[in-house]
Amino acid sequence: MSPSTSRAPLTATIEVAILGGGFGGMLMGARLEEAGIRDFRIIERAGDFGGTWYWNRYPGAQCDVESYIYLPLLDETGYMPELKYSFQPEIFAHAQRIGRHFDLYSRALFQTHVTGLRWDDEDARWIATTDRGDVLRARQVVISSGSLNRPKLPGIPGLDEFQGHTFHTSRWDYAYTGGAAGGSLDRLGDKRVGIIGTGATAIQAIPHLGAAAGRLYVFQRTPSSIDERRNRPTDPAWFAGLRKGWQRERNDNFTKLLVGVPVEEDLVNDGWTALFKSLGELLGNGGAELSPDELKLLGELLDFQHDERVRARVDEIVRDPKTAEALKHWYRPWCKRPCFNDDYLPTFNRPNVTLVDTNGRGVERLTKHGIVVDGVEYALDCLIFATGFEVSRATYTHQAALDIVGRDGVTLGAHWARGMRTYHGLMSHGFPNLYHLGFTQTGYTPNFTYQLDKQAQHLAAVFADLQAREWRALEPTREAEADYVALVTAPNAMSEYLANCTPGYYNAEGSSKHDNDGFLQGHYPEGGLKFYEMLAAWRARGDYAGMTAC
Ligand code: NAP
Repeated sequence: MSPSTSRAPLTATIEVAILGGGFGGMLMGARLEEAGIRDFRIIERAGDFGGTWYWNRYPGAQCDVESYIYLPLLDETGYMPELKYSFQPEIFAHAQRIGRHFDLYSRALFQTHVTGLRWDDEDARWIATTDRGDVLRARQVVISSGSLNRPKLPGIPGLDEFQGHTFHTSRWDYAYTGGAAGGSLDRLGDKRVGIIGTGATAIQAIPHLGAAAGRLYVFQRTPSSIDERRNRPTDPAWFAGLRKGWQRERNDNFTKLLVGVPVEEDLVNDGWTALFKSLGELLGNGGAELSPDELKLLGELLDFQHDERVRARVDEIVRDPKTAEALKHWYRPWCKRPCFNDDYLPTFNRPNVTLVDTNGRGVERLTKHGIVVDGVEYALDCLIFATGFEVSRATYTHQAALDIVGRDGVTLGAHWARGMRTYHGLMSHGFPNLYHLGFTQTGYTPNFTYQLDKQAQHLAAVFADLQAREWRALEPTREAEADYVALVTAPNAMSEYLANCTPGYYNAEGSSKHDNDGFLQGHYPEGGLKFYEMLAAWRARGDYAGMTAC
């Protein structure tokens, strides 16, 4: 982590303030730079760019989406990823590369938190104040503060009693474990380590813990589905032969496959595309003649085939039959993020590693010395929380640690008190010139940077157009917002699927049916591809339908 720095407070009038220096904020900066809008600042709490890849430095941290489509701006920077699936150090270094390439460092305010954001109607600007005493008067504000940015600790009884060492995976304590992001945790050899959680993060860290710890106990509530990873080095000859525009084409190809649009070739060709390809291929061969119920049944059968193959892999790899049985996921593949890893399952064949399956209940309680499950106490020196992040049900103001005061003194927290209300997922009525980059109420695809880039390109084009028209403020109408919210919150195939899922952050912990409060609920019903086509067509018409401007 970066050491703390000091600087004089900044007072400035600027065109765009960007809150968040992860890939979303950086893409916004890069696309503004390309559109000729250079008068912007990026305000970031961390000491450098990278967002999630700045904070999450746990051993084995890796992006499970292919690097050639996940790492943004490869075409522009000319960078060749080392592997098909990149590890955290390379991704963080790429964020720094983008920062240098687009001269974003000169526009960054690091280790700075926006504490106030208020709309000044007379001046048609936002006034952003920070914990460093800065005052920025910005025409436009873009918020990209991340959706998985607040580490979550489970509410287990006795949390305060445990006297051993503890930390969350997103704040890995290498001073305690030794080693680095690549592993070699050489201070754990004489330690009894426990880890709670078996989600996408845990399955990447557990192989390193298993290789290093004296004893490792993995406390599982729900098993993840673990398919093969098959990582491999990039072929430099292939990379050198790519034409300009290759990354956009590859991303479009991936996104098409994931929404069932037939493509000539599956360019990414991995576990993600395999999950969708079979259904897409069937639909391409006459699926249109099937009734919705027949299609649903077909989807279920294909999911079942996939699940059975993944479950059979567990038996092939894990020697102890009881452990193998407990490691098999039993819910449909989209209920939780599917995982891909070649080292996780073999870790359970190590003599120092024990899976403590809680059969869906979670651990009972913590004591002074360890964890109790089914009346058995597991004594631990260190307990690691791989328990994820606060996502659904967290109020907006809590998530962004900021309440925003819009026109007529209305706060965004109040406007969204009964759920997020946006037009195009990007803007809200009463909050002119304020834009949110992200997932909810936009179009879903598993490649988050694809979405962020599409949104950043859209906004850069809109801002350039607003400057040309000399418009000072743009805001959705109440009616347009209401119609859009009705569209994205109406029950659809995805919300129905999630309503029948095991609890998780995708479906607001399963606590509600069809209330669209989960991470994957409240999305453009026709998916990512159609959503960005819709945005592009809306922009091309130039009539700013659904908006008022002055
Ligand atoms: P997560 O998916 O929310 O997993 C949290 C884990 O903690 C789950 O196994 C959960 O069990 C368990 N848990 C929570 N409370 C518990 C309790 N009281 N007792 C026992 N177990 C408990 O969090 P994550 O693994 O950090 O992943 C979050 C997201 O980050 C992923 O879905 C993904 O989007 C992203 N991520 C991506 C990558 C990548 O490769 N791109 C890598 C890591 C993370 P239940 O399943 O029963 O709730």
